[in-house]
Amino acid sequence: MKLEGRTALVTGASRGIGRAIALALAEEGADVAINYVSNEEAAASLVEEIQTLGRRAVLARADVSDFPDTYAMAHSVLRDFGHIDILVNNAGVTSDKTFVNMDHSTWRKVLAINLDGVFNCTKVCIDQMVEQNYGRVVNITSVIGQIGNFGQANYAASKAGVAAMTKTLAKELASKGITVNAVAPGFIETEMISSIPESLQDRLLSQIPLRRFGKAEEVAQMVVFLCSPEGDYVTGAELEVNGGLFM
Ligand code: NAP
Repeated sequence: MKLEGRTALVTGASRGIGRAIALALAEEGADVAINYVSNEEAAASLVEEIQTLGRRAVLARADVSDFPDTYAMAHSVLRDFGHIDILVNNAGVTSDKTFVNMDHSTWRKVLAINLDGVFNCTKVCIDQMVEQNYGRVVNITSVIGQIGNFGQANYAASKAGVAAMTKTLAKELASKGITVNAVAPGFIETEMISSIPESLQDRLLSQIPLRRFGKAEEVAQMVVFLCSPEGDYVTGAELEVNGGLFM
C-alpha cells in the first residue's frame, strides 16, 4: 500500500468525487477525515465503510467558507490523527446564471466556497505540514476554469483562481517538502451530470473525444498518484481528467 501511515483530510467527501477520493486514499492505506457541511448521514456511512477497510476515519464537519469553523475542524482532526499529511480541497458548488442575471450574492456564494474555501483549508493545515517538512495538497479545479462556460462566470473564475493559487503555493512551499497540485476533471458522472437533460448530455458527449463522461474513481486515482511516491517530483501541475475535452 502506497499511503500506509499517511493521514488525509478530504473536503466535500460525503458525496460524488470527494467520496471516491476518500475511499481511494483509504484503499491505499491512509487514515481519512471526512469533511462535509450538511449531509451527516452520507458522511457517517463513508466513515463506517473506511473503518471496515481497517483504516481510521473521522467525521470533520465544517463550512469551508467559514474560517473559524474550518480552523476548529482542522484542530479536531489534528487532535484525532496527530498530523495531516494530505489535504484534498475538493468541496465545491455551482450556482449558474448568465452574467447579466447574476447578482452579487450568487457571485459571492460560489467564490466563498470554491476559492476562499481553498484558502481557509490550506491555511489551517499548512503550518503543521511545514513543521513536519512534508505535505501533499491537491486542489480539485475544473475544465470550466480552463475554457469558461455559458452561465458559469462565478464557477469558472473560482476554479481559475484555485489553479493560479496552486502554482504560487507550489513555488512557495517546494522547499518545505510540500507539493501542491491541481486535478481538473471534465464532465464526471455525479448528481450534477444526471440532473442535466438527456438532449444536453448528448450534446456534451459529442464534444468529448473519448465519447463518455468520466467516473469519480478516475479522478480519485489521479489524486492517489499525486499523493504517492510516484508523484513526488510533480508540483504546480494541473492534471486533466477530461476524456480529451480540453487539451
Ligand atoms: P457534489 O456531488 O455536489 O458534492 C459536493 C460536496 O461538497 C459534498 O460533499 C458537500 O457536502 C460539499 N460541500 C458543499 N458546500 C460545502 C461547504 N460550504 N463546506 C464544506 N463542504 C461543502 O460535487 P462533485 O460533483 O462531486 O464535485 C466535487 C468537486 O469536483 C467540486 O469542487 C467540483 O467543482 C469539481 N468538479 C466536478 C465535476 C463534475 O462533473 N461533477 C467536474 C469538474 C469539477 P454535503 O454533502 O454535506 O452537502
